Amino acid sequence: MQVRERIRLLDDQTISQIAAGEVIERPVSVVKELVENSIDAGARWVAVDLHDGGCSRISVHDDGDGIPADQLALALQRHGTSKLTSAGELFSVKTLGFRGEGLASIAAAARSVEIISRPADQDFGARIMSGGDGLSQVTRVAAAPGTTVRVHDLFAATPVRRQFLKNEKTELARISAFLTQFALGWPQLSFALRHDDREVWTLPAVAQAGDRIEIAFGKSSRGALLPVAHRIDVSTLISGFTAKPGNDRPNRQGQILFVNGRLVRNAQLTAAWSAGYGSMLMGGRYPYGVLMLELPPHEVDVNVHPTKLEVRFLNAAGVFDAVRRALQRTLEASPPLREAHDARLRFQPGDAVQRDAQATLPEVAVPDVSLLDSAAPDLVPQKQKARALGQIDQTYILIADNELLLVIDQHAAHERVAYESLLNSDANDTVSEPFLFPLLVELSPGQAATFEACADQLAAAGVEIECFGDSSYRIIALPSIFGRRHVDLPGMLDDLSQPDSSAPEDRRRRILATIACHSVVRARERLGLQEQIALYESLRQCQAPHTCPHGRPTTLQIDAEQLAKAFNRT
Ligand code: ADP
Ligand code: MG
Repeated sequence: MQVRERIRLLDDQTISQIAAGEVIERPVSVVKELVENSIDAGARWVAVDLHDGGCSRISVHDDGDGIPADQLALALQRHGTSKLTSAGELFSVKTLGFRGEGLASIAAAARSVEIISRPADQDFGARIMSGGDGLSQVTRVAAAPGTTVRVHDLFAATPVRRQFLKNEKTELARISAFLTQFALGWPQLSFALRHDDREVWTLPAVAQAGDRIEIAFGKSSRGALLPVAHRIDVSTLISGFTAKPGNDRPNRQGQILFVNGRLVRNAQLTAAWSAGYGSMLMGGRYPYGVLMLELPPHEVDVNVHPTKLEVRFLNAAGVFDAVRRALQRTLEASPPLREAHDARLRFQPGDAVQRDAQATLPEVAVPDVSLLDSAAPDLVPQKQKARALGQIDQTYILIADNELLLVIDQHAAHERVAYESLLNSDANDTVSEPFLFPLLVELSPGQAATFEACADQLAAAGVEIECFGDSSYRIIALPSIFGRRHVDLPGMLDDLSQPDSSAPEDRRRRILATIACHSVVRARERLGLQEQIALYESLRQCQAPHTCPHGRPTTLQIDAEQLAKAFNRT
């Protein structure tokens, strides 16, 4: 283990280079500083004990390496730190703290701060108290190895700030949320939270973040998250969990980011997270989960924000790209609809008959599908073909597929199918259907400008249009996916007119998504059973069948197990 450095005061040059001091705004700011100190001290467990939402008392105990008695006073001084010795080290910081301001800022706000600490090699504990009259003498006390910091009456010095706080329940909720998020990044540590002498929760140490997912995201996250694990090189790794397509949320609150163990906010990372979903995410919706980046300390500037909540990357573009790709790969590797479907062969129609047969002939085992492979095709239980059952509201298609009942949004599903077919055909093999009698359309100046701006890409996708006088245009050919469908060119151009600063490839996808959207069946359109089943079969062949190109879900799926539950059969 690393030898603990002594606590020293930073020199003026370093002080002038560190981002302005810690800000203690509410109890959770104190908890954050103290828990970070415990982690920097190599603690294996951290217990947080609050009274009145942390306003009247916050105690944090740990079993870390402790503060030697002769350094207790320095710990409480502004710029007293054992984690940094010179400005040069600002770019190799491996600890969460480094400015020596946490304890001093807390002491400045609170009525008093008490520290009891014992390094493992010291056979007694020592206590210091900071309050109205400055620092107390250091006294010997009995203590277990580790550190306890107690903060009394947090807003004694700034009673106005206290008035801004919501009630203690809100403060407790903030602290609890912060700690459960934080605990995701430090699974090998135990955490406990108590409030007003009662246990709120305890989190025993676990092997990996995945074992703490439910406490951070709730029970509903079970089965809704995909593991992310993407190594860029020996020292750069992206890991975590991200929502399966269709499990997105209306804001970014569920996006937890760690950079080298530091819980941060970062607009680039959240943008990259969404970018990884491409067309699987609807505008205004966000994936949730936790992403953890490990990269060499010199690649990250941690000294950019007073509460260390933000970081800056040396190679921001590279990090963006790596995260986007990590997400893309994760989603590509997740089983699309057709596999999910195939993996669920176990329930068979005619199940009852089979079960009866088993009852009389128990030795005739029904083959276990999971053990089957293509080498034993005759053992595969016969699958029934999927059947279309009809439409609801001329908008949703009902499909019975073995033990699954699927409700499909016909427009969203067809959009996905059209989009992927456009995406997979490049300029040379786009099948365009020339019109015998070209269609004339009138465009507004705005629509005409949009058309001029993306004429090449539209043509590449098979939408061929030419100018025919002032504001008249004629459509010469459309991709075959349109069939004989009416094309609303002005509507399509309106959709494309939104300002767009995205990269060329994203732009192409957006244009294709718009063409797809305008070429396909709409809600309230009557479809025959043949068309319904054909649409379902095409959807199953898609790479990303769960969402339309704008990210709306295509399919609602109810399986036999859910039905059994609903009818109290389990
Ligand atoms: P920083 O964390 O930036 O160094 P702080 O004011 O938070 O500044 O802490 C000052 C110093 O006190 C730390 O550098 C560390 O040496 C010591 N310290 C604080 N809390 C603990 C703890 N829980 N265990 C061991 N040492 C601690
Ligand atoms: Mg600190």
